[in-house]
Formats: sequence, structure tokens, C-alpha cells
Amino acid sequence: MNATSIPNTITIDGPAGAGKSTLGEMLAQRLGYLYFDTGVMYRALTWAALQRQIDPADATAMAALAHDLTIDILPPTVTDGRQYTVLVDGADVTWDLRSAAVDHAVSVAAKHPAVRTVMRARQRAIGQRGQVVMVGRDIGTIVLPEARMKIYLEASLGARAARRVAELQARGVPADVAAIAADVARRDALDQHVMGRAPDALVMNNDELPPEQEVELILQRLAEVRE
Ligand code: C5P
Repeated sequence: MNATSIPNTITIDGPAGAGKSTLGEMLAQRLGYLYFDTGVMYRALTWAALQRQIDPADATAMAALAHDLTIDILPPTVTDGRQYTVLVDGADVTWDLRSAAVDHAVSVAAKHPAVRTVMRARQRAIGQRGQVVMVGRDIGTIVLPEARMKIYLEASLGARAARRVAELQARGVPADVAAIAADVARRDALDQHVMGRAPDALVMNNDELPPEQEVELILQRLAEVRE
């Protein structure tokens, strides 16, 4: 470990639907770490903007909203398959954040540099406490570049769209594979500017390995890094 690295911090980056949240949660459980999904913060901001009829493309209004909004991410308060409970200004919006409207607008809301500055500072503060698996797009490259273990998770567009469809259907939300694939591809293009693969990241392809095996591989690698 070099002098500036943050101990006990794991970052997982990669495109939408690559399986980051499943892997992140499993890994955090195995290690007894906090699982933190940064996408939720951008989704919460987007949801609040839509509620208040703020245009997600309006950089000034979105930056002000990011400053003012209170986003709390807690352990699940309801047993309904959620990984966490998200409160926006005190209201439980956990499932609202997965709506098609939020999916559609989130990348536009997340593109503003002033919004990202606010979000990244909050994410970094959480990461610096250590014992965290932090999931997102720019965590290993920008938010926590000193993390000891970085993972970049990939999967084919078809597999990623199929995963989203299965997630929606599991919650009784009808989903069309072609429409979801188009939305995932559109988000890929919009997120390109924030997506980064850290040079020292362990690259894994989800098409090839089930999450249980990915976890084992990462734990093995972690033990080597610690030696
Ligand atoms: O990971 P998830 O699909 O929930 O993220 C929603 C959106 O939030 C992404 O499509 C991206 O636009 C944005 N995001 C981001 N940086 C992160 C995490 C998510 O810009 N670290």
C-alpha cells in the first residue's frame, strides 16, 4: 500500500446494468463494509428536479438544487427487495428513483460540472471513512483514486438490457427489451464523459463470470494486495 492510499476502500465502476450493484452488495456483505451506490445520489437529484419542474438541463438551477437537497441513504427500512432506503428531504423515494422518467433524465442532470462537484465531495467524504464498497462511474478515477482496490465491470449491451428488464419485471413493472436496450445505449453515450477505467483497475466481464465467482476473485486479489 502506498502512503496515500485509503485502506479498506473498494471502488466498482462500469456502465449501466453491468451488475455493479449486485457485485457491490455481495462484496460489502462478505467484508462487513458499507455498500454505497453513488448513482442513487444523481437519481435522487433528478427525481427532485422533476417533482419541482426544474429542467435537468439547467446547470444553474440543478447546481442550486444539489446544494440544497438533503439525500439520506439508509439501511433498508422495508423488506421489499430494496438494497437501501433513500430519503429525499425526509420522503422515502427508493423505488421512485427507478422510474423510466428518472432513467431518462438522470444523465443530463449528472452532466453539469457544478452538480458533480457537490456530489463528488459528499461521496469522497463517505469514502474517506474507509470500510466501503463504492459503486459508480468515476469512483476509481476521480472520487477515490487512492482506493486500494478498483474494479471495472463490463458486460455486453444485450446482457445489460436483459438484466434491467428482469429487475423491472421482478417488481411487476412491464418492460420491453428493445426499448430498454435503446435507453441503456443512449445512457452509455451520455455517460461517456464521466466513465473512466482507472489504469490500475481489475477489469472483469460479467458475461463470463457469475457474481459469486467475481467476489471470490476479488477477495483473492485483495488478500494479495494486503500482503
Ligand atoms: O448507476 P446508475 O445507473 O443508477 O446511475 C444513474 C446515472 O447517474 C448514470 O447513468 C450516470 O448518468 C449518473 N452517474 C454518474 N456518476 C456516478 C454514478 C452515476 O454520473 N458516479
